[in-house]
Amino acid sequence: MLRLITDFDGPIIDVSERYYQVYLLCLEKTRRSNQTVQELSKAEFWRMKRSRISETQIAITSGFDDSQVADFVKLRKQTVHTQPYFQHDTLIPGAMEALLKVQLAGVDLLVMTMRRVRELDYALKKFDLERFFPENRRYCLSNDYVKTRDVEDKPLLMARALKELHPASNTWMVGDTEADIASAKKYNIKVMAVESGIRDRQSLEFFQPDLIVKDFASSVDLFLKAN
Ligand SMILES: [Mg+2]
Repeated sequence: MLRLITDFDGPIIDVSERYYQVYLLCLEKTRRSNQTVQELSKAEFWRMKRSRISETQIAITSGFDDSQVADFVKLRKQTVHTQPYFQHDTLIPGAMEALLKVQLAGVDLLVMTMRRVRELDYALKKFDLERFFPENRRYCLSNDYVKTRDVEDKPLLMARALKELHPASNTWMVGDTEADIASAKKYNIKVMAVESGIRDRQSLEFFQPDLIVKDFASSVDLFLKAN
């Protein structure tokens, strides 16, 4: 049996508008009433995120002084994974068709994400993706999980999945960040990184995935061709 484990945000969902809207909110809320700030364009903001520039640096580039940076970073962290901001997420072009292909090929398909149950369920319902991921194929965080760092939390999800699932003859993972690459590598799973998410090619190369591809559709084509 073939198994494909996919991350959610990055391969399937585009979160750039949510992250940018939260950035705009933090800009407005952190700014003193008489203070002029440097509002980044969405393209510039997203380029910075993709090249792993820190939120602290983004705050400084936006014109905040040392006394404001911590507030900006804290507000951003508190807000980015909350409603109503999830409504800004969109489906990555071609992702739905690729999921259909995987399903038709009889591949065991799993989603593995740092979203909480309610955040994953919301998007699966909204984008009509529930049929691809039965409940026992959804690996995500519980609603009350206290997150540490993705790069430490995600391998724990992988460990749970490998313990619960029957062994597969061949398993690949698809993801868009170092957390995905680290989780796969820790358990000797082959990993394809996609450029449709929150890391650019140069950032991904640093973490040495087995392959870097344009998007989820490309990863599925390669996976089905190789297996
Ligand atoms: Mg991701």
